[in-house]
Amino acid sequence: MSARKATKKKAAKKKVARKKTAKKSARKQASKKTAGKKSTSKKKAADKKAAAARKSAKAAAAKAASQRKVFSFGGGKADGHAAMKEILGGKGANLAEMTSLGIPVPPGFTISTEVCAEFNRRGGRLPSDVKADVLTALANVEQLMEMRFGDPERPLLVSIRSGARASMPGMMDTVLNLGLNDATVLGLAKLADERFAYDSYRRFIQMYGDVVLGVPHDRFEQRLDAAKEERGVDNDTELTASDLRRVVADYLQIVEETTRAPFPQDPLEQLWGAIGAVFGSWENARAIAYRRLNDIPDEWGTAVNVQSMVFGNMGDNCATGVAFTRNPSTGEKNFYGEYLKNAQGEDVVAGIRTPQPINEASRAEDTKYLPTLEAEMPKAYKQLVAIYKRLEKHYRDMQDIEFTIQDGTLWMLQTRAGKRTTGAAVQIAVDMAKERLITKEEAISRIEPNSLDQLLHPTIDKEKAPEVVARGLPASPGAAVGQVVFSAEDAEAKAKGGAKVILVRTETSPEDIVGMNASEGILTAKGGMTSHAAVVARGMGKCCVAGCGQLVIDYERGTMRIGEIVVNVGDWISLNGSTGEVMLGQAATVMPELGGAFSELMRWTDKIRQLKVRTNADTPQDAEVARSFGAEGIGLCRTEHMFFEPGRILAVRQMILASNVPDREDALGKLLPMQRGDFEGIFRAMDGLPVTVRLLDPPLHEFLPQTEEDIQAVADSLGRSIGDVRHALESLHEFNPMLGHRGCRLGITFPEIYAMQVRAITEAAVAVSADGVRVKPEIMIPLVAHEKELQKLRKLAEDVIAEVKRENPGTRVKPIIGTMIEVPRAALTADRIADHADFFSFGTNDLTQMAYALSRDDAGNFLPDYVDGGLIDADPFVSIDADGIGQLVRLGAERGRSTRPNLKLGVCGEHGGDPASVRFFADVGLDYVSCSPYRVPLARLAAAQAAVGRAESLA
Ligand code: PEP
Ligand code: MG
Repeated sequence: MSARKATKKKAAKKKVARKKTAKKSARKQASKKTAGKKSTSKKKAADKKAAAARKSAKAAAAKAASQRKVFSFGGGKADGHAAMKEILGGKGANLAEMTSLGIPVPPGFTISTEVCAEFNRRGGRLPSDVKADVLTALANVEQLMEMRFGDPERPLLVSIRSGARASMPGMMDTVLNLGLNDATVLGLAKLADERFAYDSYRRFIQMYGDVVLGVPHDRFEQRLDAAKEERGVDNDTELTASDLRRVVADYLQIVEETTRAPFPQDPLEQLWGAIGAVFGSWENARAIAYRRLNDIPDEWGTAVNVQSMVFGNMGDNCATGVAFTRNPSTGEKNFYGEYLKNAQGEDVVAGIRTPQPINEASRAEDTKYLPTLEAEMPKAYKQLVAIYKRLEKHYRDMQDIEFTIQDGTLWMLQTRAGKRTTGAAVQIAVDMAKERLITKEEAISRIEPNSLDQLLHPTIDKEKAPEVVARGLPASPGAAVGQVVFSAEDAEAKAKGGAKVILVRTETSPEDIVGMNASEGILTAKGGMTSHAAVVARGMGKCCVAGCGQLVIDYERGTMRIGEIVVNVGDWISLNGSTGEVMLGQAATVMPELGGAFSELMRWTDKIRQLKVRTNADTPQDAEVARSFGAEGIGLCRTEHMFFEPGRILAVRQMILASNVPDREDALGKLLPMQRGDFEGIFRAMDGLPVTVRLLDPPLHEFLPQTEEDIQAVADSLGRSIGDVRHALESLHEFNPMLGHRGCRLGITFPEIYAMQVRAITEAAVAVSADGVRVKPEIMIPLVAHEKELQKLRKLAEDVIAEVKRENPGTRVKPIIGTMIEVPRAALTADRIADHADFFSFGTNDLTQMAYALSRDDAGNFLPDYVDGGLIDADPFVSIDADGIGQLVRLGAERGRSTRPNLKLGVCGEHGGDPASVRFFADVGLDYVSCSPYRVPLARLAAAQAAVGRAESLA
């Protein structure tokens, strides 16, 4: 049975949208001169000519822009803008936009994503026209900064950063301070100070050595540690200018030893090297892994941003930080961020030093006593506040910003839509709609339906929680209970084996993402709310406690110490990502209370959507949960699940093994009151709402014992011989349980079974309606392939209903009778089947399996090789295969309604809980989808998004 269920084991691979720019052809169209009709008026002709000239000038400009590969920004002017993410990447597009808005951005230029593909195609060589354009753009930066690249007096230094269309935090490479060499370092020393100049040079050699020349990072680190040891100091900041000068000399030697060539002194050679390395890093293993996890197409490529350096590490009047325009964890409307004084950008996100809060609202337990940016640099803070407000209003979304303050002057280095938890996403969308920054429709469209799962996840049950042994930052909410692992590889391996693990690291790095994804939660000893662990965990919807300073991790021994407590690899711990608490053992969890913004958003979705959302539920408990999530009825109650309960299965087996009708009726007589009781409970729970009960569907052998022991026990308790039971087992066995003797065919060969079930449904309805419950029973006949099957079984059901009504005069109960459309023939002959049906419910699980004529594996996966190997775009058991199975649904709906225009249409396969499929069913014009209780909210949201999309396309 379980193998037949469309278990949602795998996330569907999103179809890669390969939109070949429609714009291009529109542009072409615009430039085509249309043959004008003869105009009677000369003026008209002249106007037309002028308009055509304007048009072709515009088209020429657009064409020039489309051929451009290098886009400058700076001094209030930019070649690009925010809508050009496809070719400028997110970072480049937003740097251009901020520049045009008059926000202070260090000047620079972006080399387009199109060059990335070309670069990698040409085996790592930049096309010469791009090189020429880079030099022109560089000259522009020199002019704006009044500095020159490689100039020993006023050397221009640049940063080289990646920037893809979708944010891929930390996955690709960056080089800072480029342009330094033995000569320019002296110029920088004169402009700033000597210590700073040599510190910048050693950072540059280290980064360039690592990223471009492939010198192992450790070799530099060891040398730096040795320098600190010689001096007897702990921090880099305590090294003097002459210490650093020696470190630089040694670094240069390390490079020469490793690469057998001197460190490049020519700034242009450095520039080409760094640009190449950043383009090349699109193909590094961690970037590829991140793309797989996030469905980012390989062909997108990254852009490269070359930008004039500004320094947050030039003294105490300098700082660097990151901030969110609203709280990314809760969605609260508070400017929220962290900064480090006298530090370079990467230091904040790397989680090496614990950053300070930018304001009071950003304080956490471990930053309670640290001074804020607001207090330390009030002027720059005020300017930052004005900028963040402007950016949020301009982009109409929560922004994640990076800034640097050099000598008290504020510079913006980045803005982008901030990653947030689902809770925060809902809060922000609702708040922004109320602030009239966005419409309710936009608020609805902004929430990814699948992410609602995160909100429905359990949280730690505070009443029963174990003692808290450590506390860190509440970096990503939720609860995580798992066994400790200390490496991403271990996390991945153990999770594959079915274990629940919590990844514990001093700090995480981009290499860890696959392991992080495999873990229940993440715990780090270092790093703030914007550390790699925190940002990535929030994006993944994973619980994370970051910066838990009490942890002392010993990777070699596989232990972590919290004071006196020693936790070993494999020990259970629990995390509360909403409070930052760490507990030993397995904490109990509870379902979250859903109120506030979530309820409000859900109310909006209900007003907008046309598609109703029902649930698949077999028990009153499930029905109640689903109702609390907003289910508007039951679309599928699988009666066979009730048969498996202990205390019933024996009667079921007696019914199956009966060799004559009286024996069978005797067994059914035992089952009748039990089924009636089940239905009464469900009808009560769904008071006022429709309940579709499906008559018995699976092949009977599924109810029979399988092991020798069970066979013996069944034979004993029914007073039958083992041979009898075995014989029944063999004769009922289906080679392909999908087909054969099941569904309505059982009803035809054993009409007593269906008669008993119809009686139980009708009697239950009569009983509860006598108590004032508004009951709307719908009887559903499964697996119909031919209209005559339905005709016959409908007659049987109608007769039983009439009989029960005669026995209960005056009852107003009126069950309706319909069928599932789950056999391809039924979809094709839906017009004839509709003659005998009050409703159809598409059983897309069976429909998919039968139309593909292929089975799933034991885990419920559909031919993983097909999906992973790219033979088909997506697993058709997750998202409806719109081109094939979807067409059967469309056709069935159209043909059914051609016979009965008011035919009620629904779907109760697993696809009813998949957002992309829900949108498809809305388009087909079904009346409802039915899905498991926990997917009801996301189906409501997906249905509303379908309605919003349609409203937009009609406009
Ligand atoms: C279906 O086939 O889609 C369906 C809902 O029925 P089941 O999964 O119970 O076979
Ligand atoms: Mg089915």
